[in-house]
Amino acid sequence: MRQTQLFTRTRKDAPKDEVSKNAQLLIRAGFIHKEMAGVYSFLPLGLRVFKKIENVIREEMNSIGGQEITLTALQDPEIWKKSGRWDDAAIDVWFKTALKAGGEIGLGTTHEEPLTSLMTEYIASYKDLPRYVYQFQTKFRNELRAKSGIMRVREFVMKDLYSFSRSEEEFRLFYESCAKAYENIFRRVGIGDRTYRTFASGGSFSKFSDEYQMLCDAGEDIVYVHEGKKIAVNKEVYVDDVLAELGITKSELKEEKAIEVGNIFPLGTRFSDVFGLNFKDESGESKPVIMGSYGIGPGRLMGAVVEALSDEKGMIWPKEIAPFAVHLVSLAGKNSDVAKEADRMYELLQESGIEVLYDDRDARAGEKFADAELIGIPTRLVVSEKTISAGGVEVAARSNGQGKLVAESDIIETLHAY
Ligand code: ATP
Ligand code: MG
Repeated sequence: MRQTQLFTRTRKDAPKDEVSKNAQLLIRAGFIHKEMAGVYSFLPLGLRVFKKIENVIREEMNSIGGQEITLTALQDPEIWKKSGRWDDAAIDVWFKTALKAGGEIGLGTTHEEPLTSLMTEYIASYKDLPRYVYQFQTKFRNELRAKSGIMRVREFVMKDLYSFSRSEEEFRLFYESCAKAYENIFRRVGIGDRTYRTFASGGSFSKFSDEYQMLCDAGEDIVYVHEGKKIAVNKEVYVDDVLAELGITKSELKEEKAIEVGNIFPLGTRFSDVFGLNFKDESGESKPVIMGSYGIGPGRLMGAVVEALSDEKGMIWPKEIAPFAVHLVSLAGKNSDVAKEADRMYELLQESGIEVLYDDRDARAGEKFADAELIGIPTRLVVSEKTISAGGVEVAARSNGQGKLVAESDIIETLHAY
């Protein structure tokens, strides 16, 4: 894509009321637009990153047998009254509104109820199980605080998967395979080294649930990390007798700030009992389906990556989720030979299937470099009078800024290795 065609541009300052680093950088680089506190729109560069994160998650969910659907945002109170969660005392972040035709309606904060109810139409026998169903769907939550940029918003897409199993054993097997898939996701988006599987309270059906917590100063949670075992526990679990069960002691744990980037949760028969989601086993006996839920917010993940992987100059995207693989910067000035050479390079990269943002703007070198650093595409290519007379193009990594001259004939091979 040519930067002269891109409708967004970078800006020096973020809105004055924007306190979080992730939103400041994303707004300044033109990735997102702030509509109001806790509500952001995604612009072309931001949407590219968002879609890539979504795709990483989708690949990992498909690889463990997930089937993708989309449920509605508008929610029928009757369904939620059955489980007792229509009440604001049960879910304190509901957005509710009135129908013109009469009656109330809710904007979905999560989807256990409608999906469990829906699945009663498709699950009757042991032959219909297990099933794993997920979606990327917009949730609405009336969060009290919205100070963490895109990490805590009032409207966001969540990947939520729900598992339907015949037995505790079958459920556990899937739960652990999802835990593995989550680890793959966090590694692939670039935060695997600082994200901890974190023991949390399991509610009424299980001792534990698991949060995935990324250590970060901007985090709103406190976790206690065991470096050696690469696990953590949250506040609920930070009590001596529970720690003893995990074979760890308080003295081995380090207190850290963290942000929850995902979680997995055993639901037992909490929802299948309410909606009568039962199946007949091999001997014809009726049993409730065992359920679990598995959430990740791709937008929160994007914010977390910015928090973790940025420096004073801007963002540093990992290759797998970068808006483009290469930022081609032309320093042609008034020299049309350089401009032609840069155009040729742009075509060569595109023909080779490399995603490239081409800075073909008529701007000073300093401005172009500062913008490239802010936007944070992992590899920068510079075409200038100097590089042409030296017989190539300059290739530099955003992560360390170190550049080297590469002959044009070697450029594609070099980029593939970056
Ligand atoms: P938190 O305690 O941080 O509010 P939660 O326990 O409400 O999170 P879940 O309801 O389990 O989180 O949601 C699953 C995932 O959705 C979270 O792990 C997170 O990635 C994402 N998420 C939750 N709330 C928000 C939000 N307000 N804005 C953006 N993403 C969110
Ligand atoms: Mg919450």
